[in-house]
Amino acid sequence: MIIYSSDYNLHQDPNHIENKDRTNSIMENLSNQKILDSVPILNPEKATTEDLLRVHSPSQLNYIQDFCAQGGGYLDFDTYATSQSYDVALLAAGGAITAVKKVENGEKWAYSVGRPPGHHANREKSMGFCLFNNTAIAVEYLRELYPKKRFLIFDFDVHYGNGDADIYYQDPQVMYISIHQDPHTIFPGKGFIEEIGSGKGEGYNLNIPMSPGSDNSDYIWILKQILPTIFDEFRPEFLLVESGFDGHSDDPLSQINLDEDFFSWIGEYLMDLQGSMAVMLQGGYNLTALAQSNTSFINGLMQQKLLATEKYKDRNKIEENYLNRDKVSKNTLLTLKKIKDNFSPFFGL
Ligand SMILES: [Zn+2]
Repeated sequence: MIIYSSDYNLHQDPNHIENKDRTNSIMENLSNQKILDSVPILNPEKATTEDLLRVHSPSQLNYIQDFCAQGGGYLDFDTYATSQSYDVALLAAGGAITAVKKVENGEKWAYSVGRPPGHHANREKSMGFCLFNNTAIAVEYLRELYPKKRFLIFDFDVHYGNGDADIYYQDPQVMYISIHQDPHTIFPGKGFIEEIGSGKGEGYNLNIPMSPGSDNSDYIWILKQILPTIFDEFRPEFLLVESGFDGHSDDPLSQINLDEDFFSWIGEYLMDLQGSMAVMLQGGYNLTALAQSNTSFINGLMQQKLLATEKYKDRNKIEENYLNRDKVSKNTLLTLKKIKDNFSPFFGL
């Protein structure tokens, strides 16, 4: 099911790339493709102050609330908030909570198509278009209400989710895996292989930085080398996925060359690995690519049951097309080797 509200449109700056046209395009395409005939839409609940305080500091909460109450503006060079953004941010965090609740109660997948996104926000700071860390708020909600010990956050946004990483860097119960463009070449300049977590959390922060120019073949190959082992050995009790579509070749913010086939594949692959998941929308800034990629991704979550046409291939067909070591770049091979070197004390990669 999809968790969505048109109230997300109230967090809006038409001159900013992260604006209401994003979620509107996604929902419109899902409707045009008749996906919404078979996938229900549910309204997000609103997160409470208590929900937010499990992750964010009281001063951070008050700061954003006051900033919005005074009319909003820019929090830093690229993150805006309007007079309504605090309320919308509570709804985006609440959407993530609604999604995890639904999955906890037996849904195979629930997808929070919410804004503003969250994975750059840490306990003390909003940044990178994100106000609060929606995913962490959902994890902490689950952790308090259900006796779970192993959460896996998998993030395929083209940027590193430095907020998630910061929040869980020393926490062995919440493993964060991110595949993203090489941080030497893109915001936020963090997310290197050597950042593996610290203290008790050492070995539970796994970064897969990809060179500019990487494509479906690189991504599918390296993920198939890493994810099965992690799922087998970490045995997540709950999977949260941060879906970013800014690694698409048409996206203006990255130099990664994925297309709809990858997003379809990753939806189906994750479903095959875990069987259920809550998903939280992150980036994606070319409206056409974002909309089509989301439709493909959801078709993947549904194991291609929604759109069985030539254009929408199942995971085996996609792997036939792209999964070939000869198509994988030298940099990707080297990245895997470095990851294995760093993680051999923790996982049998
Ligand atoms: Zn991004």
